[in-house]
Amino acid sequence: MTLPESSIDVAVIGAGIIGVCTALELAERGIKVTIFDPAPVCSKTSYGNAGVISPWTCVPQSMPGLWKQVPRWLIDPEGPVSIRLGYLPKLMPWVLRFLAAGRSERLDPVADGLFRLSRGSVAAYKKRLAGTGQEQLVRDSMYVHVYRNPKAASLDHLGWQLRQARQVPIELIDKHVLQEIEPHIADDFEAAILIKQQGRASDPAGIGIALAEKALAKGAKHIQTKVHEIHPDQGSGCQLVTDQGVFTAKKIVLAAGVWSCQLLARFGIKLPLEAERGYHLVLRNPGITINHSVMDADQKYVASLMKAGVRVAGTAEFAGLEAAPNYARARRFADQAKRLFPQLNCADLDEWMGSRPSFPDSLPCLGAIPGVKNIIAAFGHSHYGLGMAPATSEIIADCITKDIDHETLLPYSITRFQ
Ligand SMILES: Cc1cc2nc3c(=O)[nH]c(=O)nc-3n(C[C@H](O)[C@H](O)[C@H](O)COP(=O)(O)OP(=O)(O)OC[C@H]3O[C@@H](n4cnc5c(N)ncnc54)[C@H](O)[C@@H]3O)c2cc1C
Repeated sequence: MTLPESSIDVAVIGAGIIGVCTALELAERGIKVTIFDPAPVCSKTSYGNAGVISPWTCVPQSMPGLWKQVPRWLIDPEGPVSIRLGYLPKLMPWVLRFLAAGRSERLDPVADGLFRLSRGSVAAYKKRLAGTGQEQLVRDSMYVHVYRNPKAASLDHLGWQLRQARQVPIELIDKHVLQEIEPHIADDFEAAILIKQQGRASDPAGIGIALAEKALAKGAKHIQTKVHEIHPDQGSGCQLVTDQGVFTAKKIVLAAGVWSCQLLARFGIKLPLEAERGYHLVLRNPGITINHSVMDADQKYVASLMKAGVRVAGTAEFAGLEAAPNYARARRFADQAKRLFPQLNCADLDEWMGSRPSFPDSLPCLGAIPGVKNIIAAFGHSHYGLGMAPATSEIIADCITKDIDHETLLPYSITRFQ
């Protein structure tokens, strides 16, 4: 089936949180937009995240000196990072770029790039959810980083300094204040650092579904089909070759998360996009309340109370996009979470794995793709896609509806890897 050229202004590939927010923003600007995705809305990576919506993200994953901690993490079965041995040779080029991205002189530019995409995210979600009946899916929250060793809870550490330099509202608190804020926290947490004025999702996929429904009500369409090939505009629009035939659109937004590069391979474009696999465990009858997003600062996982129960999420596993999940990693969260909240009931569990689309410098690729006319990049949001989706959608919609200064998007340009 070939639709007439005029029927799709913009085809958005991917119905994850990035694609959905972009489609809504475009529909609100009066653009005829169609989402292509064989999967239901927000059923992949955007389904299972930790629900942290931070307007303050500015700390890259790669930091100076991080490499010193990695060997310890790799040998600890409960550590936050794991690499499947057979995958290591393939991963090495990415690892080298990741370490290079953590050089001191790269820190501020990357931090600024992250900050720009997260600022205003909580308010932006509230505005977008208004009138959907699902306003309660985003709650005001703090991000509580808890520490057993009070000396480790130091605002002098680089990550906290990056935040302070950007006036992020943070506060160091002692054990007693922590126990007032999170009454069920284990006794051995001696200190915490609060990041204030955050949001937390009580159902990350539910947010995407509500926003997709809003976009559809404003005229957007969702065709549940896989896109196999994309062809840039050569005078009569871009083409999408799908399971349901060939479609034509004036522009294409590529928001297919970790799968995005598959559609660029035929143009000879190779990007260091890695599947940074994470897991979650939902404890369906937790028996306790958690008031905020709580991060175990030693083991780097997050616990948060959601509609379905307490979700414990985290880990970065490198095994390639196709490898089978190792759900033992998710099940380990039960023991870890019990050490965080001893009264947590871990009897009724639900496990999940998803792939963060991660570039070595923690920043996504946004904007024009040189040599591929009218195809726009919107992928690679690594650990922060939920928080960064609203700002991303505005940038992408500006690329489509305004004459923007592309220099402003240089931190996110795919050319930074070429
Ligand atoms: C354990 C874990 C915890 C996380 N916690 C947080 C958090 O607390 N806060 C935060 O901000 N972020 C968090 N993240 C990161 C966040 O979830 C991701 O950055 C975000 O979901 C990426 O969204 P996306 O739309 O790019 O990708 P996805 O949600 O993966 O969507 C991509 C879509 O593209 C579709 N697609 C792929 N190929 C094709 C094709 N050929 N044709 C058509 N469609 C296609 C897929 O079916 C999929 O629906 C976490 C991630 C993980 C794994």
